[in-house]
Amino acid sequence: MVARADQTTDPVLLEGLLQARRGTAFFARKLNELSDADLDGDSLLPGWTRRHVTAHIGYNARAIARLIEWAATGVETPMYASTSVRDHEINFGATLPPIALRHLFDHSAVHLNVEWRDLPAEAWHHKVKTAQGRIVPAEETVWMRTREVWVHAVDLDNGATFNDIPAPVLTRLLKDITGAWHTRGTDTGLLIRVTDQPDAMTFGDTGAATPTVISGPLAAITQWATGRGTQGVEVLGSSAGSPVPAAPKWI
Ligand code: ZN
Repeated sequence: MVARADQTTDPVLLEGLLQARRGTAFFARKLNELSDADLDGDSLLPGWTRRHVTAHIGYNARAIARLIEWAATGVETPMYASTSVRDHEINFGATLPPIALRHLFDHSAVHLNVEWRDLPAEAWHHKVKTAQGRIVPAEETVWMRTREVWVHAVDLDNGATFNDIPAPVLTRLLKDITGAWHTRGTDTGLLIRVTDQPDAMTFGDTGAATPTVISGPLAAITQWATGRGTQGVEVLGSSAGSPVPAAPKWI
């Protein structure tokens, strides 16, 4: 008999799955609000229409489902054969008729959800490889997908904002981004201060004597950190009053 409930009982993982499913539902809602003609419009991502974003989210679900099949079977199946195959797939997907593009999103999301649901509890710890070559437990795929659906829903540019993204998702995303800066050493002299959370949140070059302080609410700071504008963010500290600098790259 096919199981109809998640096989894992890990509360942290179940909470993560909930955020991924909510994000998928949110992306679906924003996509459904777009007419077929609207799909031809620009997204927030340079060079990408909403068609590209939708195709990318669809193929991303398929790619993550391949990792779950890998975790389940032990047979190595990478997310993408190569970066150029991935890019080609997105460009192809963007040319699909609207109905096919919408089906790609729907079916791939359902498929991934079934793969997650039916993955045996133990197999969530099996190691798989991300498109960037990181070796991670299958559990990590939930966060990989969560990040994609929430942020790219904003990229559809039909009303979603970072304020729609749940605080735990924003927090983890900001930790990822500032962690990447730290690893690359691109955050020198840059202190990030989140102003609207119950617990003080500071990231970046916390040891700097006279840092440029980037300050703002969690949603605005995270939006800025992903390279999507400076709205709601201000500069304090040694460079107070100057224009908000572009965030260092993180992908
Ligand atoms: Zn993406």
